[in-house]
Amino acid sequence: MDNKTEGERMGTEMELTGKARVFAVFGSPIEHSRSPAMHNAAIQALGLEAVYVPFRVEPDHLPEAIAGVRAMRFAGVNLTIPLKEAAVGLVDELSHEARRIGAVNTLWWDGDVLVGHSTDGEGFLRSLEAAIGDIPHKALILGAGGSSRGVCHALADRGVKLTISNRTVEKAEKLASEISNASGNTKASAISASFEELSEAAAHATLVVNCTSVGMEPRINESPLPEQFLRSQHVIYDLVYNPRETLLLRNARAKGAVALNGVDMLVHQGALSFELWTGFKPPLDVMKQAVLDTL
Ligand code: NAP
Repeated sequence: MDNKTEGERMGTEMELTGKARVFAVFGSPIEHSRSPAMHNAAIQALGLEAVYVPFRVEPDHLPEAIAGVRAMRFAGVNLTIPLKEAAVGLVDELSHEARRIGAVNTLWWDGDVLVGHSTDGEGFLRSLEAAIGDIPHKALILGAGGSSRGVCHALADRGVKLTISNRTVEKAEKLASEISNASGNTKASAISASFEELSEAAAHATLVVNCTSVGMEPRINESPLPEQFLRSQHVIYDLVYNPRETLLLRNARAKGAVALNGVDMLVHQGALSFELWTGFKPPLDVMKQAVLDTL
């Protein structure tokens, strides 16, 4: 090894020594994850002596996997489906974001304290602001699962009035009342995913966010919102990034609406984890290109 610091070895292929920091993503399945490509590209661009490795971890084995993180002192870990909720009870501390959405996508060390955090909501907001500037005042959110929880809380923090629609309407109702109770800033209401209710809600919203998996590979011919509800004034944000252009986004673009896919949220939530772990702001363009190269 030469005497240069990590930062001085910018862009060079890094040889791993005993000082190497190990980052990881746990999930199941994990083969499809874009995070290794994205994070290793950032590690290489910054010339850090580190590596980011995917591990297939089944929910039953998560306690042992997190014990391994502690024993081997992994420098940082991401958690993906189906482990985000299960990790909540396995860390030393939860951040405010992780506690309120009941999910963890990032483990990081605050000294010797293993903290569970979620970067999903902030990653979503940053990507939205980078794309359109000011955030609209009224939003229709499709879905009430894990990603919807992060998106809804983040938007509510900015005072956005939310209508949440979900196939299982009880989940939308629960999330809407939780947000209305937690946030002094805004109100959220719930609707079913019926044609009539969606039509009315879409007409009153500027921002529409698809937080369902409808339209994702392999069901690429489905859309969570009928085409006739789309307007040129809409900003349509689909969290799905595989395919890059879903049927929803294709329809939105055809109507002259702003159409955004989930790639930038993926990059921003990853960048927030990376910065927590390393203290470095990673190059977003390099991370994005690494994701696009996998799609
Ligand atoms: P999740 O917790 O499993 O929630 C899935 C949601 O989709 C639920 O609201 C579910 O409704 C709804 N849904 C599933 N199949 C449906 C169908 N056939 N018809 C109508 N609704 C249906 O999943 P998640 O973690 O929120 O992820 C949702 C999507 O967001 C995925 O495509 C994921 O890849 C994407 N995502 C992207 C990013 C990013 O960084 N871009 C981050 C997180 C997630 P029910 O409640 O009725 O089951």
